[in-house]
Order: sequence, then C-alpha cells, then structure tokens
Amino acid sequence: MLSIDCPHCGPRAQSEFAYDRTLDAIVPLAMPPAEAMRALYTRANPRGWSDELWHHRFGCRAWLVVRRHTVTHAIESVIGYAP
Ligand SMILES: [Zn+2]
Repeated sequence: MLSIDCPHCGPRAQSEFAYDRTLDAIVPLAMPPAEAMRALYTRANPRGWSDELWHHRFGCRAWLVVRRHTVTHAIESVIGYAP
C-alpha cells in the first residue's frame, strides 16, 4: 500500500485517497469533441513518472497532484491541485 504525504494532513494510507486520472486526461469543456476523444481515449501510457490527480476523500477532501512512478510506485511529490 502506498503512503501519500498530503500537504494538508501529512502522511496517510492510500486507502484514504481516490485516484482520478492523469493530468493530461483533463479536458476543458470548450475542447472540440474529436480532440477531447483523442485526449481521453488514445493518449500514451508510458512507463515512468506520471502526474496524477488524486482526491483525499477520507481526509481534507483536497484535490492533489501526485507525481508517481508507474513501475516502482515511488512518489516524488504531492502538491495541491489548482485548475
Ligand atoms: Zn489531506
């Protein structure tokens, strides 16, 4: 199990958080539908560092950007998400 260091609450178990998506899968409402479909369903899924949106659902309820390695699950940083 991962330990995620929430900037508001400190280190907490992964079970308190919900993974949402990678940051490149966030599409604005004004994006043309074909471009949004491409961004959501045909994006790359490379091994390595990934910036992901997580929700601290059983804690402070903040949205966080977690930089996580997709192979080792090492977490490099956790910061608040500001859209
Ligand atoms: Zn928190």
